[in-house]
Amino acid sequence: MNRACLAQEIIDSCLEMSRLGLNQGTSGNISARYQNGMLITPSGVAYHKLTPEQIVFVSYEGKAEANKVPSSEWLFHLACYHARPELNAVVHNHAVNATAVSILNQDIPAIHYMVAVTGGNTVPCIPYATFGSSELADNVEHGIKTSKALLMQHHGMITMEVNLEKALWLANEVEVLANMYLKILSVTDEVPILSHSEMRRVNEKFKTYGLKTDS
Ligand SMILES: [Zn+2]
Repeated sequence: MNRACLAQEIIDSCLEMSRLGLNQGTSGNISARYQNGMLITPSGVAYHKLTPEQIVFVSYEGKAEANKVPSSEWLFHLACYHARPELNAVVHNHAVNATAVSILNQDIPAIHYMVAVTGGNTVPCIPYATFGSSELADNVEHGIKTSKALLMQHHGMITMEVNLEKALWLANEVEVLANMYLKILSVTDEVPILSHSEMRRVNEKFKTYGLKTDS
């Protein structure tokens, strides 16, 4: 895909993220792997005003193109592309339910088989570090290696997938799971969860059949 098309797809994904109610103000940011680096949303521009020319290229070495300022959270986006060479798109936001669970500093356990969308048995919560810091990027890089979706303590969520459509779909799934989890916590301290063996079976099925993002 050429740069202008991919940049437009990033903008369309931002607008869809807002429509899905996942975004709080301009706090979300989205990127996609492109050539020897990534294309990422710029710092502090409202999504409905974004043009493809404003999307910023940042190289794998962390060098942004001249006269453009990438999202303040570009460091952890870049860390994801280093950590998972087979995945090509990253979605980050401060969706209310996912962020609320992150404030409890809890992983979302296997309350529903869809937790397997992460590739594991939970949606893990990674430790807090200041936004935009290299410490936070290190925490994300470590976490994303084993899970395609993470909660970020006192911050929000991040998802990574093969393309933008799937990464956004995954972000929406995480928010739905977080919503379910908070509802369960509001009525019981003893959260029923699926067994490891059942989650293994579900993970196998997800590998075999793949996930449909068009439905
Ligand atoms: Zn953020």
